[in-house]
Amino acid sequence: MARTTRPRKDRARPAAAAGAGTELYLELARTVAALAEPRSLRSFTLPYPGFAQRALDHTVMRCLGIGRTPPRSLPELWEWCRSMTADDPLFDVPSSLVTRGATLVTPVGLMPTRTCLELASHGPAGQVETEARGLLAELEGRCGSTERYRLCRRFLADHPVVQQEDRHTRNWSRDVWAKVKELYQPLPESLRVDGVFLPCPVCRLPALPRGRTLPTPTRPAADQEIWCEGEECLRPERFEPIRDPDLALILPRSLRAYLVLPHPVETAARNALDSAGIRHEARPGHLSAHHVRDTGHGPLEMHVYDRLQPGLLAAHLAQSPPHTHRAFIVVPERLAARDGYRASFTAALPEPLRPRLILTTPSDLVRHLTTRATESDHTMHTGTAHRRSTPASARTEAEDDA
Ligand SMILES: [Zn+2]
Repeated sequence: MARTTRPRKDRARPAAAAGAGTELYLELARTVAALAEPRSLRSFTLPYPGFAQRALDHTVMRCLGIGRTPPRSLPELWEWCRSMTADDPLFDVPSSLVTRGATLVTPVGLMPTRTCLELASHGPAGQVETEARGLLAELEGRCGSTERYRLCRRFLADHPVVQQEDRHTRNWSRDVWAKVKELYQPLPESLRVDGVFLPCPVCRLPALPRGRTLPTPTRPAADQEIWCEGEECLRPERFEPIRDPDLALILPRSLRAYLVLPHPVETAARNALDSAGIRHEARPGHLSAHHVRDTGHGPLEMHVYDRLQPGLLAAHLAQSPPHTHRAFIVVPERLAARDGYRASFTAALPEPLRPRLILTTPSDLVRHLTTRATESDHTMHTGTAHRRSTPASARTEAEDDA
């Protein structure tokens, strides 16, 4: 299908002013995320679940409305979502919300992309991140103490998959397992290949080869394309397959995406604070927010994220802004260094939040935390010094610090 090359006018369009195409893309993202759940795999046969039938109907109407050939079935819609990009004229999702070229289904593995999960978490109808937050809130309630919750949360982040033999290791805690075991589920067929499960040795999340066949599971051929749920890992040479997946359990996708994936950057940020003697503690009820003290600048917050879409991250922070006047948004170095990531994040923030939220990385965190809030905030935040702090924001910060 030919792609138009008409000039885009969406760059300045705020994320909140989503058009009908964007709404449809968000609905498709929620549909793909829900259909990818193990219990939904039978949904690809008629009759489809109501939400999937509605998404298909809306897609067909939108296609017909602008003279495009629509997908004729749910399996065809799924295939179609491998190649239909957010910026396709059918959707015209503003680049301030999602980077151009992003898709909902991975070409290899045929699973929801990370962008799909981030979109499926966006806005009042968002699901995936809400589910992760709800599961952790329930766990926090079951734990009864901050310390026990910290141990359980750490266990989950370290163990996206639990094997039978893990229970015989020296550090295995029966107390922790008793609290977390109900969060785990059997390894679904959709994540197995040739009878084995292939965890990515880098992100520890599920991996799948193109075609779902592996001549040698431990050392796939160099030219074999392999998808992993982290999406950003360098292709390792060697895999350690789990050969008896019936005896393994896995966390739900929501916790894999919103707890396991950001865990390395969260650990790096916490280690940086510990090394500098800066106190920090997790904010209850939040996925990734921490109180930070002893910086010499009054109470501050640190929020840690590993999100591929800076526009969606900004929209999330606009929806639930930090409590303190200044907050540090820590992302992995590889994302902060990506072309346009910082600029897109800043541009997508509402104007009043821009001087308050400092985008940083674990290696720059302490320097940014201990730097006086001045014009340099904007330099750190955007990579340029094109804006100055307003007197009003400076006053409010002084009041906070008092
Ligand atoms: Zn990986």
